[in-house]
Amino acid sequence: MNQILQLIQKENLTKEDLTYLIGLAGEEREFFLRETGKKYVETLGNKVYFRGLVEFSNYCTKDCYYCGIRKGNAKAERYDIDDEAILQAARFAHEHNYGSMVLQSGERSDEKFTKRITQLIKKIKEATQGELGITISLGEQTEETYREWFEAGAHRYLLRIESSNKELYYKIHPQDDNHNFEKRLNCIKTLQKVGFQTGTGVMIGLPFQTFEQLADDLLFFKEMNIDMVGMGPFIEHSETPLYAHKDKLWPLQRRFDVALNMIAALRLLMPDINIAAATALQAIDKMGREKALRYGANIIMPNITPTLHRKDYQLYENKPCTDEGAEDCGNCMSIRVEMAGREIGYNEWGDSSHFFNRQEQNKK
Ligand code: SAM
Ligand code: SF4
Repeated sequence: MNQILQLIQKENLTKEDLTYLIGLAGEEREFFLRETGKKYVETLGNKVYFRGLVEFSNYCTKDCYYCGIRKGNAKAERYDIDDEAILQAARFAHEHNYGSMVLQSGERSDEKFTKRITQLIKKIKEATQGELGITISLGEQTEETYREWFEAGAHRYLLRIESSNKELYYKIHPQDDNHNFEKRLNCIKTLQKVGFQTGTGVMIGLPFQTFEQLADDLLFFKEMNIDMVGMGPFIEHSETPLYAHKDKLWPLQRRFDVALNMIAALRLLMPDINIAAATALQAIDKMGREKALRYGANIIMPNITPTLHRKDYQLYENKPCTDEGAEDCGNCMSIRVEMAGREIGYNEWGDSSHFFNRQEQNKK
């Protein structure tokens, strides 16, 4: 346990240290999580911030091998929620003091779509007197589009790199212009340049993935000076090409355990960033997101997508909370957060301190 305590206090964790922490199991793992959780509350405080999540459309032009709403899945029931219903969800978030919302969907970059989003962001800002913070997660776009959305009022953007290892990236994506590793990487840099608080992340427990690669993912976040991270376990979907490799997967519980280890290790590596408790954690363990809050995560995303369509945003099977109304989901989430000994930052944007620290450093 001494070695673990030393690593928890260490300033610059190496790839070797991180690989060791990510792979911990049994009592040592519990000790690591508990001690990291304690240190995290002492340094970052108790607050957790809400982001009301609206998964407004599952139309997608891409074919990522792992995702249930990929273009090639003819069995997915497609939907696109109209602007009025999205605005209603935004008002719900605002009235329930969530502070922020997240707009997420499959990837489209046609002009009809990009212009619609610009207008939608403006309408949300108007409807909530500029008080609701907006995070968007709408995939790879041109610099011009990113700028337009930023100027319309969105101020945080999530674009997961999925894996920072190029070889693994191409095992889980088609190798074509539409799924280009360098393009995705450049999009993250462009988001930073435009001025977004920029988030990325990876899936944990992918077929072929190693602990060393996961350690590299954490170092990648640090090297890229990322402000926010959302990462969670990979969960297979039977209507996707990656399902052919299901025999290579770690058991679900192992993927969950490693995901929590990753969150705790990242909290040590980057103490001032925002880390989200990913929904996929809850698909494996009913208290999954609440556990993540204990060991390093400080953002949670109650699903406020109109219930009628929730079941169709099936990135993976057995997705949680698909039949609850937004209110139920928000309520169950407040209880979970309080059970984790955390306080909810109602009406606060809960921006990433790392972003402001980064701005300060750039001024010097
Ligand atoms: N289309 C946008 C994109 O890909 O950036 C945003 C929506 S996409 C559904 C959001 C995230 O879902 C992806 O970045 C990916 O990490 C995650 N995801 C997709 N399929 C998954 C699966 N089978 N298991 C776990 N996470 C998955
Ligand atoms: Fe589309 Fe995103 Fe799913 Fe890839 S991960 S298929 S871009 S929704």
